[in-house]
Amino acid sequence: MQEKVCPLCNALQAVTEICPNCGENMVDGGGINDYVGPYSPYMDSLHMPLQNEGYCLHLLFCPACKYDTLMAFALITV
Ligand SMILES: [Zn+2]
Ligand SMILES: [Zn+2]
Repeated sequence: MQEKVCPLCNALQAVTEICPNCGENMVDGGGINDYVGPYSPYMDSLHMPLQNEGYCLHLLFCPACKYDTLMAFALITV
């Protein structure tokens, strides 16, 4: 069985998203696991379905204008 990991959580990939508000490079605020606990109600609606489908949710934020957004990153096989 192959192991799939999130490239952002494992520092294998840099965030390349651009802020839709101001055009600055957005930065990774961490996996959504850092924000919601394992027993949070958010887990059912947000994290688990995506994780099962091979995605890891990250909070991206813009240091310039404080815009933030959730993005799902595809897991990669290592
Ligand atoms: Zn991740
Ligand atoms: Zn911005």
